[in-house]
Amino acid sequence: MSDLRDYEVSVQQEIEDVSVGKPHVLLLGAGASKAALHNGDKNGKPVPILRDLARDLRLHRDFPQDLVELSQTDFEAAYSRLFSRGESQELEQISKKIADYFSNLELTDEANLYDVITLSLREKDIIATFNWDPFLLNSQIRLAKLGVTKLPKPYFLHGNVAVGFCAKDKVCGLAGNRCSRCGNVFEPSELLYPVESKNYQDGNFIQSQWAAIRYYLKHCYMLTIFGYSAPKTDVEAVALLKEGWGEVQNRNMEQTEIINRPGADHEALRETWDEFIHTHHYEIHESFNDSFIANHPRRTGEAYRNQYYGAKFISDNPIPTDITKLEQLVEWFRPLLDVERKN
Ligand SMILES: [Zn+2]
Repeated sequence: MSDLRDYEVSVQQEIEDVSVGKPHVLLLGAGASKAALHNGDKNGKPVPILRDLARDLRLHRDFPQDLVELSQTDFEAAYSRLFSRGESQELEQISKKIADYFSNLELTDEANLYDVITLSLREKDIIATFNWDPFLLNSQIRLAKLGVTKLPKPYFLHGNVAVGFCAKDKVCGLAGNRCSRCGNVFEPSELLYPVESKNYQDGNFIQSQWAAIRYYLKHCYMLTIFGYSAPKTDVEAVALLKEGWGEVQNRNMEQTEIINRPGADHEALRETWDEFIHTHHYEIHESFNDSFIANHPRRTGEAYRNQYYGAKFISDNPIPTDITKLEQLVEWFRPLLDVERKN
């Protein structure tokens, strides 16, 4: 008779297993930055969501009189109107203000949710963000300085203030740095597009990012959507994601995980992401700490396989939520990182 232990996976066994090579795809929306910096950035500056952009950045003043009101209730719609009128001076002014504001946002010094997120996934995994703020890259840079160099690959689906692009060589890098091939300074990535045509096929940076996310969605075993509510104004984005994911009936073992704010309407979220969910293979959480990623850090694939394919009882290995020093957070991940290095 087989031992009961054959059906159980201990935390230590989970840590020692790095056999899965397929990627976990994590999509980040504005809700993730809100959750990470709910009291504002290092200098107390609020991290605005698109809807509140005009109000928070006082952008309504840059719109012509007849669009001032609309800009405060539906910034994207007002921007699109301005775009269709070809008001290039106003458009440029607004884009510049947004780029300036987001470029100056900074992570707080203590360990942040962005550090936790980055540390929770491996190099084979990807984090694709819709956010313009520099927090994901800031976190990756400071973790690299502490010796964590095997990081999940970041992609920027709506452009990003910290990322530039060389259109000639199709290479991206940190904004302000130079392209290693031609020596030109990377052009900042475009942030704003009119609602009607988001320009995901621009032949440049945005297109390269979308090509990557579609590829990874096709090959992933798990999709986690954190703080992205798929606004009606961005149907094209969801259609492209769907194209990558493929037909839901062909994704019968993949798991979809949705992390949203406390008190969110679970049924509405289930409906929004219906085309990404196969029958009962989904979970909705109201906090990152409750997610599969936070409870099986750097081993989501192995834990997933043990639970869903192997029908085993897996133990949680939750990331502590009370660590404030970044060095201590990295130390907590050390046993996981050590096993990966040996393999
Ligand atoms: Zn170049």
